[in-house]
Amino acid sequence: MASRDFRSELVGSFSEGSNGNPTVAMIEAAFRHHGLNWRYVNCEVPPERLADAVKGARAMGWRGFNLSIPHKVAVIPLLDGLGESAAIMGAVNCAVNRDGKFIGENTDGKGFLKSLLEVVDPRGRSVVMFGAGGAARAIGVELALAGARSITVVNRSAARGQPLVKLLNEKTHAPATLALWDKTYAIPKATDIVVNATSIGLGNGNAPLDIDVSSLTPAMVVADVIVDPPDTRFLRDAKAQGCITIDGLGMLINQGVIGVKYWTGLDADPAAMRRKLEEIFAK
Ligand code: NDP
Repeated sequence: MASRDFRSELVGSFSEGSNGNPTVAMIEAAFRHHGLNWRYVNCEVPPERLADAVKGARAMGWRGFNLSIPHKVAVIPLLDGLGESAAIMGAVNCAVNRDGKFIGENTDGKGFLKSLLEVVDPRGRSVVMFGAGGAARAIGVELALAGARSITVVNRSAARGQPLVKLLNEKTHAPATLALWDKTYAIPKATDIVVNATSIGLGNGNAPLDIDVSSLTPAMVVADVIVDPPDTRFLRDAKAQGCITIDGLGMLINQGVIGVKYWTGLDADPAAMRRKLEEIFAK
Protein backbone atom coordinates (compact mmCIF):
# COMPACT_ATOMS: atom_id res chain seq x y z
CA MET A 1 0.00 0.00 0.00
CA ALA A 2 1.31 3.47 -0.85
CA SER A 3 2.58 5.29 2.22
CA ARG A 4 1.05 8.64 3.06
CA ASP A 5 3.01 11.61 1.76
CA PHE A 6 2.03 15.10 2.85
CA ARG A 7 4.95 16.88 1.18
CA SER A 8 4.65 18.04 -2.42
CA GLU A 9 7.65 18.46 -4.70
CA LEU A 10 7.93 22.13 -5.65
CA VAL A 11 8.60 23.97 -8.89
CA GLY A 12 7.40 27.37 -10.03
CA SER A 13 8.14 30.59 -11.79
CA PHE A 14 9.91 33.83 -10.91
CA SER A 15 8.86 36.90 -12.86
CA GLU A 16 7.29 40.33 -12.73
CA GLY A 17 3.72 40.54 -13.98
CA SER A 18 3.33 36.93 -12.91
CA ASN A 19 -0.44 37.19 -12.54
CA GLY A 20 -0.78 37.31 -16.35
CA ASN A 21 1.14 34.07 -16.96
CA PRO A 22 -1.06 31.01 -17.68
CA THR A 23 1.81 28.48 -17.45
CA VAL A 24 0.89 27.58 -13.87
CA ALA A 25 -2.58 26.39 -14.90
CA MET A 26 -1.16 24.30 -17.73
CA ILE A 27 1.59 22.66 -15.65
CA GLU A 28 -0.68 21.95 -12.70
CA ALA A 29 -3.22 20.42 -15.11
CA ALA A 30 -0.44 18.03 -16.19
CA PHE A 31 0.49 17.22 -12.57
CA ARG A 32 -3.15 16.44 -11.74
CA HIS A 33 -3.67 14.46 -14.95
CA HIS A 34 -0.72 12.23 -14.07
CA GLY A 35 -1.51 12.06 -10.35
CA LEU A 36 1.81 13.66 -9.35
CA ASN A 37 2.14 15.16 -5.87
CA TRP A 38 3.88 18.23 -7.32
CA ARG A 39 2.97 21.93 -7.14
CA TYR A 40 3.89 24.83 -9.46
CA VAL A 41 3.94 28.18 -7.67
CA ASN A 42 3.78 31.44 -9.62
CA CYS A 43 5.95 33.98 -7.73
CA GLU A 44 6.14 37.74 -8.21
CA VAL A 45 9.87 38.52 -7.89
CA PRO A 46 11.36 41.98 -8.49
CA PRO A 47 14.90 42.14 -9.93
CA GLU A 48 16.51 43.07 -6.59
CA ARG A 49 14.99 39.94 -4.99
CA LEU A 50 15.95 37.41 -7.66
CA ALA A 51 19.11 36.25 -5.85
CA ASP A 52 17.08 35.71 -2.65
CA ALA A 53 14.41 33.83 -4.58
CA VAL A 54 17.00 31.44 -6.07
CA LYS A 55 18.56 31.00 -2.62
CA GLY A 56 15.10 30.25 -1.23
CA ALA A 57 14.47 27.67 -3.93
CA ARG A 58 17.78 25.99 -3.03
CA ALA A 59 16.95 26.06 0.69
CA MET A 60 13.52 24.52 0.13
CA GLY A 61 14.78 21.86 -2.27
CA TRP A 62 12.75 23.11 -5.25
CA ARG A 63 13.14 20.76 -8.22
CA GLY A 64 13.38 23.69 -10.62
CA PHE A 65 11.78 26.94 -11.72
CA ASN A 66 10.91 28.93 -14.80
CA LEU A 67 12.17 32.45 -15.38
CA SER A 68 10.23 35.05 -17.26
CA ILE A 69 10.50 38.80 -17.80
CA PRO A 70 12.81 40.38 -16.57
CA HIS A 71 15.01 37.57 -15.18
CA LYS A 72 16.11 35.44 -18.15
CA VAL A 73 19.61 36.95 -18.38
CA ALA A 74 20.11 38.15 -14.80
CA VAL A 75 19.61 34.64 -13.40
CA ILE A 76 22.66 33.18 -15.18
CA PRO A 77 25.33 34.06 -12.56
CA LEU A 78 23.04 32.66 -9.86
CA LEU A 79 22.98 29.18 -11.43
CA ASP A 80 25.53 26.33 -11.40
CA GLY A 81 25.75 25.70 -15.15
CA LEU A 82 24.04 26.09 -18.52
CA GLY A 83 22.70 23.78 -21.24
CA GLU A 84 24.02 24.20 -24.80
CA SER A 85 21.36 26.41 -26.35
CA ALA A 86 20.95 28.53 -23.19
CA ALA A 87 24.71 29.17 -23.26
CA ILE A 88 24.57 30.27 -26.92
CA MET A 89 21.51 32.48 -26.39
CA GLY A 90 22.72 33.92 -23.12
CA ALA A 91 19.20 33.49 -21.75
CA VAL A 92 17.59 30.96 -19.39
CA ASN A 93 13.87 30.39 -18.91
CA CYS A 94 14.00 27.09 -17.04
CA ALA A 95 16.29 26.01 -14.20
CA VAL A 96 16.53 22.32 -13.43
CA ASN A 97 17.77 20.81 -10.17
CA ARG A 98 20.19 18.11 -11.25
CA ASP A 99 21.81 16.41 -8.23
CA GLY A 100 21.50 19.56 -6.15
CA LYS A 101 22.84 21.89 -8.87
CA PHE A 102 20.59 24.35 -10.70
CA ILE A 103 21.31 24.08 -14.43
CA GLY A 104 19.88 26.74 -16.78
CA GLU A 105 18.06 25.62 -19.90
CA ASN A 106 16.04 27.48 -22.49
CA THR A 107 12.78 25.80 -23.43
CA ASP A 108 11.34 28.72 -25.49
CA GLY A 109 13.03 27.63 -28.71
CA LYS A 110 12.86 23.92 -27.85
CA GLY A 111 9.09 24.17 -27.41
CA PHE A 112 8.82 25.85 -30.79
CA LEU A 113 11.04 23.22 -32.40
CA LYS A 114 9.02 20.36 -30.93
CA SER A 115 5.77 21.70 -32.38
CA LEU A 116 7.47 22.40 -35.73
CA LEU A 117 8.83 18.84 -35.86
CA GLU A 118 5.26 17.52 -35.73
CA VAL A 119 4.91 19.02 -39.22
CA VAL A 120 8.36 19.48 -40.77
CA ASP A 121 12.01 18.81 -39.91
CA PRO A 122 13.92 22.09 -40.29
CA ARG A 123 17.14 20.26 -41.25
CA GLY A 124 18.24 21.55 -44.66
CA ARG A 125 15.32 24.01 -44.85
CA SER A 126 15.46 27.71 -45.46
CA VAL A 127 13.75 29.90 -42.88
CA VAL A 128 12.36 33.42 -42.86
CA MET A 129 11.78 34.68 -39.33
CA PHE A 130 10.13 37.97 -38.41
CA GLY A 131 11.45 39.50 -35.19
CA ALA A 132 14.72 39.61 -33.28
CA GLY A 133 13.61 39.82 -29.64
CA GLY A 134 13.83 37.13 -26.96
CA ALA A 135 11.47 34.66 -28.66
CA ALA A 136 13.17 35.10 -32.04
CA ARG A 137 16.61 34.62 -30.52
CA ALA A 138 15.54 31.36 -28.87
CA ILE A 139 13.80 30.07 -32.01
CA GLY A 140 16.65 31.13 -34.31
CA VAL A 141 19.27 29.32 -32.22
CA GLU A 142 17.23 26.10 -31.98
CA LEU A 143 16.47 26.11 -35.72
CA ALA A 144 20.17 26.63 -36.42
CA LEU A 145 21.20 23.83 -34.03
CA ALA A 146 18.56 21.61 -35.69
CA GLY A 147 20.35 22.07 -39.04
CA ALA A 148 18.40 24.81 -40.85
CA ARG A 149 20.10 25.61 -44.18
CA SER A 150 19.72 29.39 -43.84
CA ILE A 151 17.91 31.90 -41.68
CA THR A 152 16.74 35.31 -42.86
CA VAL A 153 15.93 37.54 -39.90
CA VAL A 154 13.41 40.21 -40.91
CA ASN A 155 13.32 42.94 -38.28
CA ARG A 156 12.18 46.53 -38.03
CA SER A 157 15.23 47.72 -36.09
CA ALA A 158 18.82 46.86 -37.01
CA ALA A 159 19.73 47.45 -33.36
CA ARG A 160 18.11 44.12 -32.44
CA GLY A 161 18.34 42.38 -35.81
CA GLN A 162 22.09 42.73 -36.29
CA PRO A 163 23.22 41.17 -32.98
CA LEU A 164 20.95 38.14 -33.60
CA VAL A 165 22.36 37.62 -37.09
CA LYS A 166 25.90 37.98 -35.71
CA LEU A 167 25.18 35.45 -32.96
CA LEU A 168 23.78 32.90 -35.42
CA ASN A 169 26.71 33.34 -37.80
CA GLU A 170 29.36 33.16 -35.09
CA LYS A 171 27.93 30.46 -32.83
CA THR A 172 25.99 28.13 -35.15
CA HIS A 173 26.48 26.58 -38.60
CA ALA A 174 23.39 28.20 -40.13
CA PRO A 175 24.22 31.20 -42.33
CA ALA A 176 22.03 34.14 -41.29
CA THR A 177 21.24 37.46 -42.97
CA LEU A 178 19.29 40.50 -41.86
CA ALA A 179 16.52 41.99 -43.97
CA LEU A 180 15.49 45.35 -42.60
CA TRP A 181 11.71 45.51 -42.40
CA ASP A 182 11.16 49.05 -43.60
CA LYS A 183 8.67 48.24 -46.35
CA THR A 184 6.18 45.50 -47.25
CA TYR A 185 8.16 42.26 -47.24
CA ALA A 186 7.71 39.60 -49.93
CA ILE A 187 8.69 36.07 -48.82
CA PRO A 188 11.33 34.66 -51.22
CA LYS A 189 9.96 31.74 -53.29
CA ALA A 190 12.56 29.22 -52.05
CA THR A 191 11.52 29.65 -48.39
CA ASP A 192 10.36 26.49 -46.60
CA ILE A 193 9.45 27.79 -43.13
CA VAL A 194 8.07 31.22 -42.17
CA VAL A 195 7.88 32.26 -38.52
CA ASN A 196 6.29 35.27 -36.87
CA ALA A 197 8.36 35.76 -33.72
CA THR A 198 7.35 39.40 -33.21
CA SER A 199 4.69 40.53 -30.75
CA ILE A 200 2.40 41.65 -33.61
CA GLY A 201 -1.00 40.05 -33.05
CA LEU A 202 -0.66 39.86 -29.27
CA GLY A 203 -4.02 40.93 -27.85
CA ASN A 204 -5.30 41.77 -31.34
CA GLY A 205 -6.16 38.91 -33.64
CA ASN A 206 -6.60 41.26 -36.59
CA ALA A 207 -3.21 43.03 -36.50
CA PRO A 208 -1.48 42.41 -39.84
CA LEU A 209 2.19 41.76 -40.54
CA ASP A 210 3.47 44.11 -43.23
CA ILE A 211 3.98 41.35 -45.81
CA ASP A 212 2.87 40.60 -49.33
CA VAL A 213 0.39 37.86 -48.44
CA SER A 214 0.38 36.56 -52.03
CA SER A 215 4.08 35.62 -51.62
CA LEU A 216 3.05 32.85 -49.17
CA THR A 217 2.75 29.57 -51.09
CA PRO A 218 1.29 26.15 -50.20
CA ALA A 219 4.83 24.72 -50.05
CA MET A 220 5.57 26.86 -46.98
CA VAL A 221 4.98 25.91 -43.34
CA VAL A 222 3.93 29.02 -41.44
CA ALA A 223 4.19 29.37 -37.66
CA ASP A 224 3.21 32.07 -35.18
CA VAL A 225 4.38 32.50 -31.57
CA ILE A 226 1.31 34.46 -30.46
CA VAL A 227 -0.90 32.61 -27.99
CA ASP A 228 -3.49 35.20 -27.12
CA PRO A 229 -5.33 34.93 -29.41
CA PRO A 230 -3.83 31.85 -31.11
CA ASP A 231 -5.88 32.36 -34.27
CA THR A 232 -3.91 35.33 -35.65
CA ARG A 233 -4.52 37.23 -38.87
CA PHE A 234 -1.10 36.05 -40.09
CA LEU A 235 -2.10 32.38 -39.69
CA ARG A 236 -5.53 32.96 -41.21
CA ASP A 237 -3.91 34.63 -44.25
CA ALA A 238 -1.39 31.78 -44.52
CA LYS A 239 -4.14 29.17 -44.32
CA ALA A 240 -6.07 30.96 -47.05
CA GLN A 241 -2.93 30.77 -49.20
CA GLY A 242 -2.85 26.98 -48.68
CA CYS A 243 0.04 26.88 -46.18
CA ILE A 244 0.25 24.40 -43.29
CA THR A 245 0.08 26.51 -40.12
CA ILE A 246 1.24 26.10 -36.52
CA ASP A 247 -0.14 28.27 -33.72
CA GLY A 248 1.67 29.62 -30.66
CA LEU A 249 -0.19 27.31 -28.27
CA GLY A 250 1.90 24.38 -29.53
CA MET A 251 5.10 26.21 -28.56
CA LEU A 252 3.76 27.08 -25.12
CA ILE A 253 2.44 23.56 -24.45
CA ASN A 254 5.65 21.92 -25.62
CA GLN A 255 7.67 24.22 -23.37
CA GLY A 256 5.54 22.88 -20.55
CA VAL A 257 6.05 19.28 -21.70
CA ILE A 258 9.83 19.82 -21.85
CA GLY A 259 9.90 21.58 -18.46
CA VAL A 260 7.89 18.77 -16.80
CA LYS A 261 10.22 16.20 -18.38
CA TYR A 262 13.30 18.08 -17.11
CA TRP A 263 11.91 18.37 -13.59
CA THR A 264 10.01 15.09 -13.09
CA GLY A 265 11.38 12.75 -15.79
CA LEU A 266 7.78 12.17 -16.91
CA ASP A 267 6.45 12.51 -20.49
CA ALA A 268 3.41 14.68 -19.83
CA ASP A 269 0.29 14.36 -21.98
CA PRO A 270 0.13 17.56 -24.09
CA ALA A 271 -3.62 17.09 -24.69
CA ALA A 272 -4.39 17.66 -20.99
CA MET A 273 -2.32 20.85 -21.10
CA ARG A 274 -3.88 22.10 -24.34
CA ARG A 275 -7.39 21.54 -22.95
CA LYS A 276 -6.59 23.74 -19.97
CA LEU A 277 -5.14 26.54 -22.12
CA GLU A 278 -8.01 26.44 -24.59
CA GLU A 279 -10.42 26.70 -21.68
CA ILE A 280 -8.52 29.78 -20.45
CA PHE A 281 -8.24 31.50 -23.82
CA ALA A 282 -11.87 30.78 -24.70
CA LYS A 283 -12.93 33.00 -21.78
P1 NDP B 1 10.55 41.27 -27.51
O1 NDP B 1 9.98 42.55 -26.98
O2 NDP B 1 11.87 40.80 -27.03
O3 NDP B 1 10.65 41.41 -29.14
C1 NDP B 1 9.56 41.90 -29.89
C2 NDP B 1 9.90 41.77 -31.38
O4 NDP B 1 8.74 42.18 -32.13
C3 NDP B 1 11.04 42.67 -31.84
O5 NDP B 1 11.73 42.03 -32.88
C4 NDP B 1 10.28 43.90 -32.38
O6 NDP B 1 10.99 44.61 -33.37
C5 NDP B 1 9.08 43.24 -33.01
N1 NDP B 1 7.94 44.12 -33.15
C6 NDP B 1 7.07 44.51 -32.17
N2 NDP B 1 6.11 45.32 -32.68
C7 NDP B 1 6.40 45.44 -34.00
C8 NDP B 1 5.76 46.15 -35.09
N3 NDP B 1 4.65 46.89 -34.90
N4 NDP B 1 6.31 46.06 -36.32
C9 NDP B 1 7.42 45.30 -36.53
N5 NDP B 1 8.06 44.61 -35.55
C10 NDP B 1 7.55 44.69 -34.31
O7 NDP B 1 9.43 40.18 -27.28
P2 NDP B 1 9.65 38.60 -27.18
O8 NDP B 1 10.55 38.18 -28.28
O9 NDP B 1 9.95 38.22 -25.80
O10 NDP B 1 8.16 38.09 -27.47
C11 NDP B 1 7.58 38.20 -28.75
C12 NDP B 1 6.24 37.50 -28.73
O11 NDP B 1 6.44 36.12 -28.55
C13 NDP B 1 5.32 37.96 -27.60
O12 NDP B 1 4.06 38.25 -28.15
C14 NDP B 1 5.23 36.75 -26.70
O13 NDP B 1 3.96 36.65 -26.12
C15 NDP B 1 5.47 35.62 -27.67
N6 NDP B 1 6.02 34.43 -27.01
C16 NDP B 1 5.34 33.26 -27.16
C17 NDP B 1 5.80 32.12 -26.57
C18 NDP B 1 5.03 30.87 -26.75
O14 NDP B 1 5.30 29.91 -26.03
N7 NDP B 1 4.12 30.78 -27.68
C19 NDP B 1 7.05 32.10 -25.78
C20 NDP B 1 7.73 33.38 -25.73
C21 NDP B 1 7.19 34.50 -26.32
P3 NDP B 1 12.08 45.74 -32.95
O15 NDP B 1 13.35 45.01 -32.58
O16 NDP B 1 12.22 46.55 -34.19
O17 NDP B 1 11.49 46.50 -31.79
